[in-house]
Amino acid sequence: MSRFFSSKYDALTPYVPGEQPQERKYIKLNTNESPFPPSPMAQRLAREAASGLQLYSDPECRGLVKIAAEKLGLAEDEILFTNGSDEILNFAFMAFCDKAHPAVFPNVTYGFYSVFAELNGIPYEEIPLREDFSINVEDYIGIGKNVFLANPNAQTGIALPKSEIERIVASNPDNVVVIDEAYVDFGGESCLDLIRKYDNLLVCQTLSKSRSLAGARLGFGAGCRALIQDLNTIKYSTNPYNINRMTMAAGIGALSDSAYFEENCRKVIAVREKTSAALRQLGFTVTDSRSNFLLAAYPKMSGQALYLALKEKGVLVRHFETELLKDYNRITIGSEQQMDTFLAILKDILEKAK
Ligand code: PMP
Repeated sequence: MSRFFSSKYDALTPYVPGEQPQERKYIKLNTNESPFPPSPMAQRLAREAASGLQLYSDPECRGLVKIAAEKLGLAEDEILFTNGSDEILNFAFMAFCDKAHPAVFPNVTYGFYSVFAELNGIPYEEIPLREDFSINVEDYIGIGKNVFLANPNAQTGIALPKSEIERIVASNPDNVVVIDEAYVDFGGESCLDLIRKYDNLLVCQTLSKSRSLAGARLGFGAGCRALIQDLNTIKYSTNPYNINRMTMAAGIGALSDSAYFEENCRKVIAVREKTSAALRQLGFTVTDSRSNFLLAAYPKMSGQALYLALKEKGVLVRHFETELLKDYNRITIGSEQQMDTFLAILKDILEKAK
């Protein structure tokens, strides 16, 4: 740290992203990316956009917003695109939370929520999950704080039904409820259509997972016009050109190509179910995931030992050495072939550990 770093960040512990190794080719099941390349249309449009990079991008993202509104059944001014959904989440903390409007989220969820709260000096409360890692909805009814929920939840993959989310939103009319639907396309129930009914609901989605654009950095928030206006105030006060031209073009291609998107989601879900059954067969405890990853623990081996053994054999999964998750590993669903190789390597490790 330099002697110039502001003391207002004394308590800040930055987010630790999953490993992105460059030195060795792993079967990479650690950061919930798609095993499939972006839609051919997304690739072509991004390539074409490269020739215009001498010009700034459209700060209003009009082409992108138009196709998103069409596909999602929303009005154009109910949507705001950002540099990954990380950015819309940060904007939401900046726009709606402060000392008088603290944030609340589960104690096992996306790690960036507490980082954004710390970064912006926002008080926050982490509500424990039940023992089975499910969210107890009653904990959030009428809580009177700004609620941040990933649905399906991060790290566990467990989803709440839309009706339960609606109860939380309806019971906190004077607070913003942010529903982070990063994984919703893999079997969750989206709350997007509730934004017309509730002026305190912001739904965030990403094109990183189900649309194979993690490296392009594209996400969005959807909410009533007034909420989106507030978030635009933050955007235009930080970085008006937050979506670059190539990403905008890739996003238009990815959103246009519904058939490719639907087929890939279907494949991920099928491979997830197959992998989860195989893991249970081997004696693993596996959460009921509606996302593109599984959270799994093996009773006879620590999470870290298994993570390291897999890594040595060329398979990268995500391990969190926290009290609640240390027995587990989070395994992204790759292609069928990748998961078959993963399972073969896993069986070998378990056999040798006997
Ligand atoms: N929300 C959740 C729950 C996530 O797991 C992630 C990805 N790590 C994000 C948001 C952010 O994704 P991105 O910034 O790539 O859109």
